[in-house]
Amino acid sequence: MWSNATERHWQQEADRVMSGMKEWRLQHPRASLREIETALDERFAKMRARMLQDVALASAAARISEAEEAERPRCAQCGGPLESHGEQERTLTTTFNEPIRLERSYATCPVCGTGLFPPR
Ligand SMILES: [Zn+2]
Repeated sequence: MWSNATERHWQQEADRVMSGMKEWRLQHPRASLREIETALDERFAKMRARMLQDVALASAAARISEAEEAERPRCAQCGGPLESHGEQERTLTTTFNEPIRLERSYATCPVCGTGLFPPR
């Protein structure tokens, strides 16, 4: 399911959380519980956004491109199985305003020619 590149990115994000927190701790030796919590949340939010993006992309790809015809989403007009036609990018934001970039499959119905973005 995951590429080695995805695993490397996740590992890098995890390393960044830990080294960033160590550094922050040195700069804020008397931080309050609340301050520590906020510093942690900010760092984990970046990692969370990255993982959310990667899992959502894999999930979307699995739904459209790799699905068997019988399992593919259906055309709302005629009920035909949709075919994927490339990706369109969009950016959403999640916790702590972290951007996540998603590619969304543009699909068409080979039976009636209707084009649409399948619902998520
Ligand atoms: Zn159709």
